Order: sequence, then C-alpha cells, then structure tokens
Amino acid sequence: MLASSIALTSKLPGVGKSIFTQMSELAHEHQAINLSQGFPDFPIDPYLSVEVSNQVAANRNQYAPSAGTLELRQAIADYFQKHHGQAYEPQNEVLVTAGATQALQSAIQALVKEGDEVIIFTPAYDCYAPLVELAGGTPVYCKLRYPDYDIEWSELKKLLNRKTKCIILNTPHNPSGKIISQTDVDELIKITEGTDIFILADEVYHNVVFDGNKHLSMSSIPKLAERSVVVGSLSKMLHVTGWKVGFCLAPKVIMKEILKVHQYTVFSVNTPVQLAIANYLGAHAATVDNAQQVYERKRNVFIQAMQGSKIGVLPCEGSYFCLIDYSQVSEADDVSFAKELVVKHKIATVPLSVFYNKPEQNKVLRVCFAKDDSILQQAAQVLHSL
Ligand code: PMP
Ligand code: GLN
Repeated sequence: MLASSIALTSKLPGVGKSIFTQMSELAHEHQAINLSQGFPDFPIDPYLSVEVSNQVAANRNQYAPSAGTLELRQAIADYFQKHHGQAYEPQNEVLVTAGATQALQSAIQALVKEGDEVIIFTPAYDCYAPLVELAGGTPVYCKLRYPDYDIEWSELKKLLNRKTKCIILNTPHNPSGKIISQTDVDELIKITEGTDIFILADEVYHNVVFDGNKHLSMSSIPKLAERSVVVGSLSKMLHVTGWKVGFCLAPKVIMKEILKVHQYTVFSVNTPVQLAIANYLGAHAATVDNAQQVYERKRNVFIQAMQGSKIGVLPCEGSYFCLIDYSQVSEADDVSFAKELVVKHKIATVPLSVFYNKPEQNKVLRVCFAKDDSILQQAAQVLHSL
C-alpha cells in the first residue's frame, strides 16, 4: 500500500461501497444464494455472442462516433417508435452511453446547476442523489407511500418551488416493482405544464411490465416527452449487465447539452458491441420482447413458492425485483436481518432502508428474481423455514 500525506476533502463524504457490491461480496464470502444485486444468472443468447465475435473479426474495433454508431442509434429509435410511438431522430435525439448509469450522470451534469433542486422519490435507486450532489444540486426527497409505493401528489406539490429543476422518475421502479399509472401521468402533466422542470425518466425496466399492463414511457406522452430525458439500458434488456451499454433519448435542444458532457466523460462506447446489439435488436426482436414473459413467469414461480410462508411477498408490477415483508418472523431491523439471512441461512437480499435518505424501518427486503427457477425454489424453501 502506498502511503500518502495528501489532504483530501471528499466530494461525497457520506458515500461508501454500494449496497449491491456489499451484499454480493457477502454472498460470495458465505457461499449464499445471491438474490441481492440485480443481474440475471442465465447464459447469454449464443446469437449475441456470435454477433460480437463477428464484429471484432470484421475489424470494427476503432472509435465509434461520440453519440454512438448510427446503426445502434437507429435501432434504438426504431425500438421506441415501435413500442412507444415516439419518433426520435437518430442523428440528434439518441445517445449511446456506458450503461444507464452514465446516461443518468451525463444528463444530470448537463441539466443541474449549483442551487438547483431535484426531486427524488424514495426508496430510490442508489446513484441519483450522489450524481445530483456532484452536479452542485440539492436532492429533495419525496417518500412513496408504504406499502403500495404510490406517489403522494399532494406531498410532492408541497416540495415544488422556483428552484425545482428536475424530477427523477423511475418506472418500473427499483426496488419496489411499482409502475406508474395514467393518473400519475395526468398529475405529472398538471404540475409541470408551463414550468421549465425537466423529467429524468429512468425506464431501464421498460420491457418488464407484468399482468397485461403497459409501460407508460415518458417518450409516449408528447406533453412530457418535450421535457424528458428517457434513460434505458441495453445490457439489462439483453441480460448481459456486464456489457454496460445504455442510452438516453431527449429532444434535440436538451440532447445537445448532454452530448457535450458525454463527449468528455467517455467520448464513445465500445464499437463492436454497439454494432452487434444493433443487428441483434433487428434480427431477434421476438427474443428481445420475450423478456417480459420470462420475468413474469419467474416472478410467479417465486410468489408460488413463497405461498404459505410467514414472509409475505408485496405486489410486484414490473422490473425483476420484488419486496418481501419479514415482520412476522423477526423484530430485527432490516440491515441486521439481511446480514443474518446471508450468514446463517445463506441467502443474500438487500435491506430496503438503504434506499432512503432517512432509513425507514418497514421490515422489508428486496429480492431479485432474475434467477434460475431451482434457485428461487431453494431460496423460498429456506425462507419458509424461518
Ligand atoms: N437505474 C436502475 C433503476 C437500475 O436498476 C440500474 C441497474 N441496472 C441502473 C439504472 C443502471 O443500469 P446500467 O447497469 O445499465 O448502468
Ligand atoms: N441495478 C442493480 C441493482 O439494483 C445493481 C447495479 C450495480 O451494482 N450498480 O441491483
């Protein structure tokens, strides 16, 4: 280890190792079933790996244009037009990023200035608040109602003022699995109309909505699309989270600013993977669309396997996460209970309190069900025994 006498003031003093990394490490250490970090445990579609090998062999290995290869931007635009009806211009309104995380980072850096306030619904995905703070903005938290995780619009209205720059909306929602409704959309239109408030719509699970419901993308609602940056993750969509390829969509005037930040953050995302994904989205559209059924079935396998357990599964409308309520089996707080579950019972989950600015104690844990059926059944069997 290198000693250093440099005096350093952290820009993010409250931030430690991400909870997903912590829980995955703990799962590894205790050889536990890992239902904590959100990633699927099934193998890549062989067609997708062949596509990448082909692109590498065809020597498509030099820098892509900063905004992404035109092939992939076109494929993303086509996908959104087909599924959500909005025609984004590949040349000016689509950006390929290093995962959804970098899309969120670049959008926030581009839009949020010192003194701006950004609404974050809690429980919230972990990167929103630190990214807002790094941009000099102030996170303003609006709690979703427990246990249905509905947005309380009357509460939100009280938080809006002239400093409000942006509302970060995540649907389907990680960690609760909640999706927004038409009533939410109507409220959002009402409160933003005539303002300069942006919507940063984290829609990484846009293709994973259950029970015949439809994903309400901000891109599909013209009054909201004009002020929205819609964020997605191709690596999530194609079950290859380690590839870290995402995107954002926004009207040209907004995208122009995001592109400036992106250019000096990563410049561009790796070329062969972009080209492979572009081909795959076109040629294997049916497989891509099948993710919804795959995850709905897995959700049902887990719910079924948990039936009769004292640990209840809360309703889950989308994403590949659901929440479990352990209040009938333990008095422990969720962090202690999650640790006990890994160490004693070999199951890793994520305690929900870490998704809040002020930890809530609802005795709830997040479970990722993007796992093999046998793993889900094994985990449920252990949870039954508690
Ligand atoms: N937003 C949400 C809600 C997520 O769950 C994740 C994790 N997939 C991300 C953003 C980041 O996605 P990516 O891995 O593409 O950076
Ligand atoms: N999105 C994943 C989750 O919610 C984690 C990604 C990460 O580890 N940063 O579990």
